[in-house]
Amino acid sequence: MFTPETLREELAKPKQIVVTTHHKPDGDALGSSLAVYHWLKAKGHAVHVIVPSDFPAFLNWMPGRQDVTIYAEKKTDSDRRIAEADFICCLDFNGLPRIHAMADSVKNTAAVKIMIDHHLDPEGFDDYRHWDSSAAATAQLVYDFIVNVMGDHQAITPDIATCLYTGLMTDTGSFRFQTTTPSVHLIAADLITRGAKNWEIHEHVYNSYTENRLKFLGFCLVNRLEVLHEYRTALFSVSRQDLSRFRITTGDTEGLVNYALSISGMKLAALIVDRTDQVKLSLRSIGDFPCNEVCRDHFNGGGHRNAAGGNSNEPLADVVQKFKALLPEYKTRLTQ
Ligand code: 5GP
Ligand code: MN
Repeated sequence: MFTPETLREELAKPKQIVVTTHHKPDGDALGSSLAVYHWLKAKGHAVHVIVPSDFPAFLNWMPGRQDVTIYAEKKTDSDRRIAEADFICCLDFNGLPRIHAMADSVKNTAAVKIMIDHHLDPEGFDDYRHWDSSAAATAQLVYDFIVNVMGDHQAITPDIATCLYTGLMTDTGSFRFQTTTPSVHLIAADLITRGAKNWEIHEHVYNSYTENRLKFLGFCLVNRLEVLHEYRTALFSVSRQDLSRFRITTGDTEGLVNYALSISGMKLAALIVDRTDQVKLSLRSIGDFPCNEVCRDHFNGGGHRNAAGGNSNEPLADVVQKFKALLPEYKTRLTQ
């Protein structure tokens, strides 16, 4: 098992390193991955970021994104790099099913697996972990790893600061979720000091809608929102036709679920979307309601207490029905 000391010693010599993160990387996943990429590259390692799928267009400005390989597009090359790597940095996930088609290659490589993550219930594939389920974002843990575990505060360049700030900002809903502690703000302040342009990052991520995406939001608010006052729950169900009508691409549904939670009195919000491969669920809650338990027990997923996701191979209408049929079971916890 690796310790911080052995890790520091090993990383003092040039290594082959692959950095990866979960399917459909979000701001925290991509921000953490690119921060680690910049940090390791500057130390003289040969580093490749390989992600299981494409990522949202609103992250397409991030420093280093042109160096990211999408696994499905370069499978043979990626498998070779994973097999030959000395280290694999696994960021913002703790179970191999989260990296979909990459899971077998990562499982079978002899590379040392470093996991930095903030989700509950790590599966245990890692050789070294920097894990804390109370952290607001993996970016917070990457910062802590570089600064406190590796003792490398001075290595935080403007690019690294920008990537970490993006992760911190997106996973805290712009510094407003319950996870936003004083230490999150202190880290954000340090990242701004070190070159993250907070206002510019905010513009890139939140004010970069396409016209279609904004119209899709309006359409969903008017036509696809259902409010179940009895269970203090609101949900959107979105069909494949809705997605194609508005030419929705990866990332365009991000944030939609939060509108359902913005109705006064709501405790639970769901977004159920019929994607081409599967039906995807996103749950959000306020207070103690455990979205992760619902996703884990009924929808083949997981996540955090207040933000979790899952999926199903059933038709959309059946998944919506199943979700609604679960609510009586949770009624006390939703209405107490
Ligand atoms: P989102 O609803 O934004 O897709 O995801 C919310 C949270 O739930 C994220 O922290 C994400 O990592 C987790 N999550 C989303 N989908 C899945 C899934 O299919 N399986 C697991 N284990 N976690 C998920
Ligand atoms: Mn995260």
